[in-house]
Amino acid sequence: MTPKPNGIDLQRLRADTPGCAEVAHFNNAGAALMPRPVVEAQIAHLRREAEIGGYEAKAEAAARIEAVYGSIGRLLNCGTDEIALVENATVAWDLAFHAFDWQPGDKVLTAEAEYASNYLAYLHARQRYGIEIAAVPSDASGQIDVAALARMLDARVKLIAITHVPTNGGLVNPAAEVGKVAKANGIPFLLDACQSAGQIDLDVEALGCDLLSATGRKYLRGPRGTGFLYVRRSLLEQLDPPFPDLHSARWVAPDRYVWREDARRFENWEFNHAGLLGLGAAVDYALALGLPAIEDRVAELASDLRSRLAAVPGIDVMDLGENRCGLCTFTLAGHAASEVAQKLRAQAINVSVSDPNGTLLDATRRGLPDLVRASVHYYNSADEMDRLIGALETL
Ligand SMILES: *Cc1c(COP(=O)(O)O)cnc(C)c1O
Repeated sequence: MTPKPNGIDLQRLRADTPGCAEVAHFNNAGAALMPRPVVEAQIAHLRREAEIGGYEAKAEAAARIEAVYGSIGRLLNCGTDEIALVENATVAWDLAFHAFDWQPGDKVLTAEAEYASNYLAYLHARQRYGIEIAAVPSDASGQIDVAALARMLDARVKLIAITHVPTNGGLVNPAAEVGKVAKANGIPFLLDACQSAGQIDLDVEALGCDLLSATGRKYLRGPRGTGFLYVRRSLLEQLDPPFPDLHSARWVAPDRYVWREDARRFENWEFNHAGLLGLGAAVDYALALGLPAIEDRVAELASDLRSRLAAVPGIDVMDLGENRCGLCTFTLAGHAASEVAQKLRAQAINVSVSDPNGTLLDATRRGLPDLVRASVHYYNSADEMDRLIGALETL
């Protein structure tokens, strides 16, 4: 019988993943290995585009394209009318952030683990509109201090926006607790779920978020160049998407337009439909395994990896938080992170480097150098873990 850790049939999943035969892939927070159905959905659509024409292939795939919204709706526990498909998580997040009517003195509350691109948008909005940015301090465990967040609320706070899982470590911010505070105070809550989508069971009702951005290529194992935005139905009419076009809006009279009814008012006309179908296949793949099983398996593997890393002389594990997920970051004394990554890469072991500028508030507070990031996924095996640890020990 095939062993099924946490209901995960490792052998089958690895056989389904062509990359598993090539590399020990611990860069799932960068881009995970796509499973076969994701690759095939894309190739099949590209072939049809070549054979019958791009517009015609889209018409032929209309029902399958529509089904992608249904899949994401099941992933997030939201309606298909609350989803916009876009090219990446940054665009999804920016569309949401810039849909607010920012005025001088408006305040955005964020957390120390905030992602660089989001914080750059705050700085840009501060320069452009005169908004204020306040970063909620972290508690002793390193996660956002929710009590401090509640104390920092005032009438000028227009948005609470935090990163669920940062790019630089295993921290899982208590998003549902933040959501409770946001809801109790009637303040919109934007959650960057880029690293959590596909590894953590996300439910927008339980999280209490009003907006959520995510990408296809990371833990969801979808194609590069895919992403999506969730917009709570009740917020839709209060927001003003920054870019109307002939897909998101209708030009009904020479001097008047009306938005689409649903969250697709955040989309634009052109799509990489092959990528979009690949994203749908990736979400269906994750749903078939079950997000709770994925979440357990990833957290367990990461926790094993952290204990084994900590036992290697010279390694310091840097992950924060009460609850930790699949991203493991560390330093190896006497070796720059880029050198470690390069030497592992030469042995077909993929890790990446987290640079302080990706999460500057956190990196500054903790005085972090470049970190090696080994991010595990459910398809990683014990053998791959042995190879990674063995390679680090010989460095
Ligand atoms: C990768 C990442 C993003 C950006 O995602 P893209 O799809 O590259 O735009 C945003 N937030 C976090 C926390 C990330 O790790």
